[in-house]
Amino acid sequence: MTVLNHDFRSDTVTRPDAPMLAAMFAADVGDDVYGEDRTVRALEEKLCALMGKEDAAFMPSGTQSNLIALMVHCERGDEYIAGQNAHLYKFEQGGAAVLGSIQPQPIENLPNGSLDLAKIKEAIKLDDIHFARTRLLALENTIGGRVLPQNFVINATDLARKHGLNTHLDGARVFNAAVASGVDVAELAEPFDTISVCLSKGLGAPIGSVLVGNKQHIMKAKRLRKMLGGGMRQAGYLAAAGIYALDHNVERLALDHVNAKRLAQGFAQFKHVTVEQPQTNIVFTKVDPDYADSFIAHMKENNIIVSGRYGELRWVTHKDLSAHSVEAALNTAADFFSSI
Ligand SMILES: *Cc1c(COP(=O)(O)O)cnc(C)c1O
Repeated sequence: MTVLNHDFRSDTVTRPDAPMLAAMFAADVGDDVYGEDRTVRALEEKLCALMGKEDAAFMPSGTQSNLIALMVHCERGDEYIAGQNAHLYKFEQGGAAVLGSIQPQPIENLPNGSLDLAKIKEAIKLDDIHFARTRLLALENTIGGRVLPQNFVINATDLARKHGLNTHLDGARVFNAAVASGVDVAELAEPFDTISVCLSKGLGAPIGSVLVGNKQHIMKAKRLRKMLGGGMRQAGYLAAAGIYALDHNVERLALDHVNAKRLAQGFAQFKHVTVEQPQTNIVFTKVDPDYADSFIAHMKENNIIVSGRYGELRWVTHKDLSAHSVEAALNTAADFFSSI
C-alpha cells in the first residue's frame, strides 16, 4: 500500500475529487479558439459576474494570465510598477521583459505586503524623453498569504489613476483574501482594470486561471493568448473543473485558514522555531539553521513534505490536507524537537 504524503508544499498539489471529475466528464465542449466552447464561456461569464467585470478569458496558467495582462496594459518600452516580492516580477522569469519588452520598476514591499505610496509616486516617470513611459501599477492579493489592507489598495489605485496608469491585480488567491476578510471578491476587484484569478491553487481545479477586465482589454488579451500559444481547443473539460471549484470550493477555504492557524499555534510551542501568525492558508516558519536540514529530513521520512531552504519553510494548507494532517505534522515535529 502506498503511504500518502501530507504535502504542505503548495495549494497547487490538490487532485480533483470524484464529483469534480464527474463534472469534467460531463462537460459540453467545442473549439474554444473558434469561441465555440460553451463550458469555457460559462466559466468566463461566471467570473465576470463574481468579479463585477465585463469580460473574461480562460488561461492555461496564472503566469500566462499575468504576462498577458502586462502586455495588454504596456507596449514595448513601457514600464510597470510592482512590489519587489510580486509573483509577476520575481517568480515569472522576467517574462514581461523577455516576451513583452516591458521594463519592471520594482519597489520594496512593506512587511504587510503593501507598498509605500510616496515610493509609488516617486517611481512614476515624468513625460520626458529620458524615461520609459510608466503605464501600470500591479498589486497582488493575497501576497505571501497576507491580505492587502483595502484602504491601501484604494489609495494606491487612486494614485495610479491620477497619473494615468492602469491597474492590475494578481489575484491568484483573491478568494482566500475575500474569505479571510469577509469582503466580497467583487469589492476587492473593483479598483482594478484587470484581475487574474487562479483556479488551480486553493480552489482545487487541476489547471487554469481566468483574466477578467473590460471588453477591450479582454479582446486584446485573447489575441495575445493565441500568440503565446495559449489558445486551447476543447478546454471545456478544464473549465468544468473551474466552475465546479467556484461552486463548491470557495467557502471551504475558511477551513484551510483554520488549519493554517492551528499549525502556526503548534509551531509556536517549539523553542527552535519562530513562526508568523497566518492570515490565510500560508504559514512561514524559521527553524534554527543548526537543525534545519535534519528537521526537513525527519519530516520527509515521516511523510510530511514542505518547501523551503536555509531553515525558512513555507507551509501551505489546502483541500487535500485535513486537520489530521496538521496534527501529524505537529506530532512529527514534536518528536524531532524532543530528541535534540
Ligand atoms: C501561483 C501563482 C501565480 C502563477 O500561477 P501558475 O498557474 O503557477 O503559473 C501567479 N501569482 C501568484 C500570486 C501565484 O501564487
